Amino acid sequence: MAMMPGAVNKLLANQARQGLMKSYQGVCLHTMVGSLAGTDSMFQKDGTVGTESHFGVGEHGEIYQWVDTAYTADANYLGSAHVISIETADYGGSFGRWNTAGDNVPYWNAKQIASIVKVIVWACQTHDIPIQQMKTVRDRGIGYHAMGVPGNELPNSLRGTKYQWSKYAGKVCPGKKRISQIPELVRLAQGGTVPASEPEPKKEGILGMSKYSNTVLNAVQKLTRNKFTTLKTSKGAHSIITHTGDPFLSEVQVTLAGLKPGETAQLRFINASYKKGTKTKNYEHYRKAEFLGTTGNTYISHVQLGQQPKGTGGRANHLRVQLWTNSKTAKVTSIATKTLKG
Ligand SMILES: [Zn+2]
Repeated sequence: MAMMPGAVNKLLANQARQGLMKSYQGVCLHTMVGSLAGTDSMFQKDGTVGTESHFGVGEHGEIYQWVDTAYTADANYLGSAHVISIETADYGGSFGRWNTAGDNVPYWNAKQIASIVKVIVWACQTHDIPIQQMKTVRDRGIGYHAMGVPGNELPNSLRGTKYQWSKYAGKVCPGKKRISQIPELVRLAQGGTVPASEPEPKKEGILGMSKYSNTVLNAVQKLTRNKFTTLKTSKGAHSIITHTGDPFLSEVQVTLAGLKPGETAQLRFINASYKKGTKTKNYEHYRKAEFLGTTGNTYISHVQLGQQPKGTGGRANHLRVQLWTNSKTAKVTSIATKTLKG
């Protein structure tokens, strides 16, 4: 038996007919093109006869376990006996109703990120999987479905082997926005180890967070070449949250127009000391993440975990985000932030 503490037990009927896992190469991330409830009712109806995954993560960070990780789940086709699969919600509710025909899957939200990280940490500790991002489908660690899809990232020479993760050519799962978030998930998992033997983890770090805040700004923001620009995150304001001394997990998603292939952009979170009528002091910046331009819009995202004291002397400590680029033409067309505090 290998059940994740804290996951909702939604085991499908007849687990044992699936057969035992043959190895634990890694963890594979998927997207549902649906909600957790819809996917759950589909899986429950078919039991283990149809396709299913080991885990599901809902819009609000709910974690369902459908298959004991001792057994295989069918989400990874010929690789199903070698990888642990995590399906993730992406449709309806706060994700809205998007056109599912193309590569339009929305980003994982902050609650999903926190929960996916917990599943990754548990699965890696329980099954001795290194917490690292797979660079190719033959590596061990954390990967995503499209890596093993024919006509997508799967090399032709690996068709028909355990690295072929889909019967159908061209699947983009989990979509380019979510794929861009995987390096941050892995980094959080590397730093956020949760003891597998502890059923009631201490309320700290990402585990104790419950307050949630969002900002969205759909407006053009110009950038200065070769300089970090502090981005507005809502109309007229740069601040994402005001620090209170509690830990936070903040995610930013930026759409860039005009960032050409070969050009780069960097995102970083910073802390700034603010008081109305005085000069704002940027007193600390976090590690930056770098992104390459693509044809069409470039979607970039970054996640930061941290903890900062309250400001003193009438000043407030704000979390902000900055963007750097070497492009002459790149500009921000939209920015969204999602932050968990607790
Ligand atoms: Zn998938």
